[in-house]
Amino acid sequence: MSKFLSEKYSSLVPYVPGEQPKDMEYIKLNTNESPFPPPENTGKEVMEEVSRLQLYPDPECTALNVKLAGVLNVSPDEILATNGSDEILNFAFMAFCDKDTPAVFPDITYGFYKVFAGINNVPYTEIPLDRDFKINPDDYKGINKTVFIANPNAPTGIILKCSEIEEIIKSNPDNIVVVDEAYIDFGGESCVPLIHKYDNLLVTQTFSKSRSMAGARLGFGVAAKPLIRDLNAIKYSTNPYNINRLTVAAALATLSNDKYNKDNCRIITENRAYLSEELKKIGFTLTDSRANFVFAAHPEISGRELYLKLKEKGILIRHFDTERISCYNRITVGTKAQLDALIAAVKEILKIKD
Ligand code: PMP
Repeated sequence: MSKFLSEKYSSLVPYVPGEQPKDMEYIKLNTNESPFPPPENTGKEVMEEVSRLQLYPDPECTALNVKLAGVLNVSPDEILATNGSDEILNFAFMAFCDKDTPAVFPDITYGFYKVFAGINNVPYTEIPLDRDFKINPDDYKGINKTVFIANPNAPTGIILKCSEIEEIIKSNPDNIVVVDEAYIDFGGESCVPLIHKYDNLLVTQTFSKSRSMAGARLGFGVAAKPLIRDLNAIKYSTNPYNINRLTVAAALATLSNDKYNKDNCRIITENRAYLSEELKKIGFTLTDSRANFVFAAHPEISGRELYLKLKEKGILIRHFDTERISCYNRITVGTKAQLDALIAAVKEILKIKD
């Protein structure tokens, strides 16, 4: 830290993104990206937009919001597009949390919530998941704080039913409930339709996972219009041009081809079932993940050791050095070929013969 850093950031603990080592080609199963490229027409649409890069993008993202609204069955002014869903989550901490309205989220969940709370000086409470790593909705009823729930949760992949989340929303009418649906397209039921019923619900989603666009950075929030207006006030006070032209062009192209994305999600859910079965056969315990990753532990090897040994073999998975989950690893569901390479490497490490 330099002597110039503001005192208010002196105790900041930044988020640590999944590693991207450059020393060799790895099979990358550590950051929940899609193993599939965006649909074919995306390149052409993006190249056309290059000739307009001298102009600022549309700060209102009108074309994108209109197209997305059609897909989500909401109105364009119930959407705010952001630079990844991380940005809308940060906006939510800025807009809806403070010393008098602290945040609350599970003890095991997306690690960035804590970081957003830290940078925005928001006090927070972590509620332990139960023994099976499940969120107990009762813990959040009438809690009088801004609630952040990832559904499916990360890194467990475990999902709550919409009706369970609705109970949380209903019982906290004076507080915002943020439902982070980064992984919803891999087998969950979205809470988006509930924004027409509750004025205290913000649903966030991303193009990074099911829509193969992690590199373009696009996420969005869906909520009743007054909430979107609040969040827009934050956006226009920080970065009005938060979505660049090339990203909008890519998103419009990919939304015109949503069948391609849906087909990819189906392949990933099939591959998830395959990977889960193969891992179970060799002694792993897994949570019931509905995301594009599995969360797995083996009784004979620590999570860290397995992670390190796989890395030596050119395969990256994600290990979290957190007490309750240190024997687990989060493994992104890739292509069948990537998963076969992973399974073979795991068998070699555990000295399991076919
Ligand atoms: N929420 C959860 C639960 C995530 O795992 C991630 C990805 N790391 C995000 C939000 C943010 O994703 P992005 O900013 O790429 O949209």
